Amino acid sequence: MAHPKSSKTAPSKLQVHIDALETQGVGVTPDASSRHLHNGMDTPLPPADLHGAYVNNRPLPTEGIADRRAWIVGSGIAGLSAAFFLIRDGHMPAGNITFFEEQDIEGGSLDGAGNAEDGYIVRGGREMEMTYQNFWDVFSEIPALEMPKPFTVLDEYRIVNDADKNWSKARLLEKQGQIKDFSTMELSKRQQLELVRLLLARKEDLDDITVEEWFSEGFLNTNFYTFWRTMFAFQNWHSVLEMKLYMHRFLHLMDGLNDMTSLVFPKYNQYDGFVRPLMSWLKDQGVNIQYDTVVENLEMTTSGDTRTVTAIQCHGSEGDKTFNVGDRDLVFVTTGSMTEDTAYGDDNTAPQLKENDQAGSGSGWQLWKNLAQQSEVFGRPEKFCGNIPGSTWESVTLTCKPSPLMDKLKELSVNDPYSGFTATGGIITFIDSSWLMSFTCNRQPHFPDQPDDVIVLWTYALLMDKPGDYVKKTMPECTGREVLTEMCYHLGLIDQIDEVIAATKTRVALMPFITAQFMPRARGDRPWVVPEGCTNLALIGQFVETHNDVVFTLESSVRTARIGVYSLLGINKQVPDIYPGQYDIRRLLRATRTLNSDEAFLGEGLLRRILGGTYFEHILPLGPGEKPEELSRPGMFEQQFQALRGLLEDSQALDDAKDWVQGILNKLRGRR
Ligand SMILES: Cc1cc2nc3c(=O)[nH]c(=O)nc-3n(C[C@H](O)[C@H](O)[C@H](O)COP(=O)(O)OP(=O)(O)OC[C@H]3O[C@@H](n4cnc5c(N)ncnc54)[C@H](O)[C@@H]3O)c2cc1C
Repeated sequence: MAHPKSSKTAPSKLQVHIDALETQGVGVTPDASSRHLHNGMDTPLPPADLHGAYVNNRPLPTEGIADRRAWIVGSGIAGLSAAFFLIRDGHMPAGNITFFEEQDIEGGSLDGAGNAEDGYIVRGGREMEMTYQNFWDVFSEIPALEMPKPFTVLDEYRIVNDADKNWSKARLLEKQGQIKDFSTMELSKRQQLELVRLLLARKEDLDDITVEEWFSEGFLNTNFYTFWRTMFAFQNWHSVLEMKLYMHRFLHLMDGLNDMTSLVFPKYNQYDGFVRPLMSWLKDQGVNIQYDTVVENLEMTTSGDTRTVTAIQCHGSEGDKTFNVGDRDLVFVTTGSMTEDTAYGDDNTAPQLKENDQAGSGSGWQLWKNLAQQSEVFGRPEKFCGNIPGSTWESVTLTCKPSPLMDKLKELSVNDPYSGFTATGGIITFIDSSWLMSFTCNRQPHFPDQPDDVIVLWTYALLMDKPGDYVKKTMPECTGREVLTEMCYHLGLIDQIDEVIAATKTRVALMPFITAQFMPRARGDRPWVVPEGCTNLALIGQFVETHNDVVFTLESSVRTARIGVYSLLGINKQVPDIYPGQYDIRRLLRATRTLNSDEAFLGEGLLRRILGGTYFEHILPLGPGEKPEELSRPGMFEQQFQALRGLLEDSQALDDAKDWVQGILNKLRGRR
């Protein structure tokens, strides 16, 4: 990386440090699991999981930035964030940035459209949390649309969520509308150990292994797994590696998994909440966007081990076009999309996937396939887009006027849904639904122009090949009204279904690749953000490799964009790694207790004995209703000690336990 020696922004006394920066080999693909927190000679930047003000510095401009151009394929959150980082941290003039977008609107998977008459539609809602470090970094600088300067989208988000905490009062329903106890995880000791075994496993030992291959059948029937798979949209046949990464990434949220206290939600749908303000800022800066333009392939020259993009082949309303790319220009490509080829339906129409649909023939996948044909450094797209039944699910957005459905909703919500405060606080799952259906009511209004008497609900299901329990069809075979009928059956409203249908509009979205990013994968299937040897190309979005982050989040798309920009421009600034909650003893102890259905775990008594009454007492998790002053009270240690003694005396139990632990160790060793 070169810095302008006579930069006006760099007073001469700083020059010695600016020159020294040039010699640093900067790693911007964060992997905090590989080192300790220090700022030594061998640490080119502050540690990757150091979050906060120190790493929010403004880097110096890179040399010649005003003469370089950036071409961004895809205007989802990954593409939009790439432009943001190019402008803010790369100091690139916004007029040098051009988007190619195949749709006639920006945002990609972040949608939100329609009106109260025809029905609103969102393909999904956004469960979010506070440690989306890269995402919040962007939105801490984007002006809020409904607040005066200098308030940002993050400020607005905080005001809404700080004043309106999220929680669920009816996370699970059964027997047509009855709330099922969801206070515990229902994990036996053995099932808890299955989870621990996964946490301990090395990432590289989990290639192509599925969730159902790793866990016992009993585990898959627990409350824990129901919370997990419905909240994150995991299927039994998905990658257990992804599940592991989620556990590390969100370990600090484990105690909010059942009642949804771990979540925060945007004020509106994700298009109005995030895309509109970000795009408006980018357009104000002067970026260019070419809608209705499909990028079909990239032309590259290779020299030795390096690859440089020289041209972008597009197809648009005006036919084929090729854009030349200079070797100092930058290209960012969103490879694949979870919402590609979405099929839509409504009250009377079931969605139809493309007639001649071949797996992954859509443009995002096709571009990635074309790249993969050029070199194996671009990964293996078929692993993700090659199994449509394995990656499909459907959602339906309901635009509701008052009806018995709204009365039932009030019963299940933590606040009156018409009050503007949190309603269901996240999804409510019908555990006896053969589709495994869930629904949610976010804060209302969900759209800025939504009339006061309208509520927008969202429902989805995971299992697409099973007939419904009332409507004897699979979900994709159903019209919107039939899905509504099935939902009302599970809410105990089937007798009032005509009244509900008359007051409700439905809009259906069947998404053949919605969980493509979770399909089982192995090393090399996903390309690195800057694939080996590429001098001016970064791949961004959900289908690229990062060291520790998960997929299917806003944060991970933004992360890849940031890594891409910093890598290609050689920007000396930290990309924060995932929140290090997994290394925080408080979070670990809390999570361990949570998985044990909030009962004391083995050894907790000893910990209380040692730490109770000391400075570190506060790291101990409290039991339900327990007060801090009760922590040092004797009892738990003695109780656990007696239980352990009993176990030791029962030599049979001890032998069983020993065999079982030995079996696990052998298995773990066998996998290496
Ligand atoms: C139903 C649903 C629920 C979700 N829930 C959550 C949640 O609760 N929490 C959370 O954090 N995240 C959630 N997500 C995930 C999050 O929304 C996505 O990870 C993120 O929006 C993906 O952004 P992206 O820019 O990587 O890709 P996309 O949004 O898919 O954008 C890709 C864009 O590139 C364009 N494109 C692709 N190829 C080409 C080409 N060759 N030429 C031209 N244009 C092209 C596409 O048209 C599209 O606009 C959810 C997503 C969905 C769909």
